[in-house]
Amino acid sequence: MYNPSSLKAEEFINHDEIMETLAYADINKNNLKLIDEIIEKAKQRKGLTHREASVLLACENTDKINKIYALAEQIKKDFYGNRIVLFAPLYLSNYCVNGCVYCPYHAKNKHIARKKMTQEEIKKEVIALQDMGHKRLALEAGEDPINNPIEYILESIKTIYSIKHKNGAIRRVNVNIAATTVENYRKLKEAGIGTYILFQETYHKESYEQLHPTGPKHNYAYHTEAMDRAMEGGIDDVGLGVLFGLEKYRYEFAGLLMHAEHLEAVHGVGPHTISVPRIKHADDIDPSAFDNGIDDDTFAKIVACIRISVPYTGMIISTRESQSCRERVLHLGISQISGGSKTSVGGYAEPEPEEENSSQFDVSDKRTLDEVIRWLMQIGYLPSFCTACYREGRTGDRFMALCKSKQIQNCCHPNAIMTLKEYLVDYASPETRKIGEELIKKEIGSIPKEKVQKIVTDNLTKIEQGSRDFRF
Ligand code: SAM
Repeated sequence: MYNPSSLKAEEFINHDEIMETLAYADINKNNLKLIDEIIEKAKQRKGLTHREASVLLACENTDKINKIYALAEQIKKDFYGNRIVLFAPLYLSNYCVNGCVYCPYHAKNKHIARKKMTQEEIKKEVIALQDMGHKRLALEAGEDPINNPIEYILESIKTIYSIKHKNGAIRRVNVNIAATTVENYRKLKEAGIGTYILFQETYHKESYEQLHPTGPKHNYAYHTEAMDRAMEGGIDDVGLGVLFGLEKYRYEFAGLLMHAEHLEAVHGVGPHTISVPRIKHADDIDPSAFDNGIDDDTFAKIVACIRISVPYTGMIISTRESQSCRERVLHLGISQISGGSKTSVGGYAEPEPEEENSSQFDVSDKRTLDEVIRWLMQIGYLPSFCTACYREGRTGDRFMALCKSKQIQNCCHPNAIMTLKEYLVDYASPETRKIGEELIKKEIGSIPKEKVQKIVTDNLTKIEQGSRDFRF
């Protein structure tokens, strides 16, 4: 029985409810009157149910699809302005006991180079990341209780936060590790993590079990209920995602929104972020072996439909996607992107030798962080290295309240400007700096409160003089 408030995976992600939703979407995909009503509802910016959103995703009418795109773009502007938050992944270890058939870290892969960084190596990587200009990391690791126990992850987080190289600092560490216990989530919270990210991979239980034939990740319920345990452990910013290509995208889309509805129903706060990874080539993984790959048009439609269905949830895209694909979906709802990423264990401080490939997947967007920043500014965005909300305790429902109160333009916008300024002064190439300084002059004018404008202007001067880390 479908019950969004249940704590049982099969009740809040209910197969029958998803099948009925897909049938409803099929029947109504050409029902233009209903589609218009759903679009009108989305315009109120209070989100859509998984059923309503599934109808829009199934819609094939070009005129209506263009309306969905226009609304997604407008909602994105209203909630996130032109800011794009930057981060980089840091792979700590690729030892893994699971058998995920799409991931080259699967335990049976004997030819991938297995690596686990020591604290000394992590230090070097973090210094390299700080020297690129990064302030926010997403920690990644395979699941291996012997090689990568929670103590190792906690020690690594401590190491990362402790490194202050030149003007650099990692101010927010998000964590993407396998589903774990409430006790371990509590430890991660105490270690000061930002978001706990866990991709569902697929919401389809039967496929899930086939795609994860061995190891602890095989347990669908344990994996699907992880976010509830994370919240019970005190983590109130959680990041959802599915790996598109494994199952039928419409099934995944409905599951993803049902998961968001479940978190809202039980914990009073939806997901902080949603990621939209697609399967990529990797060591012994051929993406064409999976039948459910989606093209760029479908991908764009998914992003737009997520954007209008959960307006308060940030959306993340990684360097799995190419520059052109990233550009398209930035307009439609993406608010965070990675830049200059390495998916190998190590590789920031020194490039990994080719014969030692430890990467999780091939990267499509291989540009440096400086190139990504310059490109973002050239296409009309304001790159942001802001980490203020989490450090000011504005997480979970307090962050959502900030979004809803429309104070974001007096808070996130100035923070974006000041952190971009730090980047320009400390790390940018001369060309990027020139474009950035012009942009900052323009952006100060769009801070609504005069008093805030004045504070920001003073702080920008102080940043020039060597002070760092101003925030609202
Ligand atoms: N091991 C942890 C877990 O099981 O959740 C951490 C996640 S893993 C390091 C990061 C994510 O990469 C996975 O959740 C999966 O969605 C994605 N991934 C794995 N193989 C991939 C591939 N071939 N192409 C693209 N993404 C992949």
